[in-house]
Amino acid sequence: MPAPTEKEKKVVTKLCAAAIIKRIEAITGNRYCKECNKMLPLENFDLQLKNAPRFLCKTHTKELYHSWGYGTHDKRAFSTFKAKLQADRKIFDQDRIEIKKRDIVNLVKPEHLQNFGEWAIIPKNPGVPISGQNMEIVSIYMRRCLVRRWKKHKDPAQYTALLDQMLQHGAQGCPDIKN
Ligand SMILES: [Zn+2]
Repeated sequence: MPAPTEKEKKVVTKLCAAAIIKRIEAITGNRYCKECNKMLPLENFDLQLKNAPRFLCKTHTKELYHSWGYGTHDKRAFSTFKAKLQADRKIFDQDRIEIKKRDIVNLVKPEHLQNFGEWAIIPKNPGVPISGQNMEIVSIYMRRCLVRRWKKHKDPAQYTALLDQMLQHGAQGCPDIKN
């Protein structure tokens, strides 16, 4: 039997961790909130809310959702991301967008919010509608690069390969843009 690859090892580690966490929750009836930084009874978590951050208690989940999109700056950031998504929908020949505000909240980090004009949300696979499961945040340079690749070949596999390459090695290697 061949030795497991790094990727396989990571998957196993993740599965083990998930199983252990589940077991602890079942035995103790508690779950960890990373903002409270302690274990809390499961009833402190919103178990029904779809896509809710798993390790945030109800209070902190609420805080996260309310803090985001509340100030003028965040509102502008949000509408800019949405406008770009609408424009890109046509570029990627997609008939709909399946992203919810909550998906964007979960994806976007404070550094993205700060200079939101420098970032764009794009599909991981342009062959299917952009959604919470099919999205990535990249610099506008990377986006430009990916859009060019897409327009040239209209090939989701080529696009995804380029995206992976740039996520791993940075955007310097954009083959379609000459300086
Ligand atoms: Zn908490």
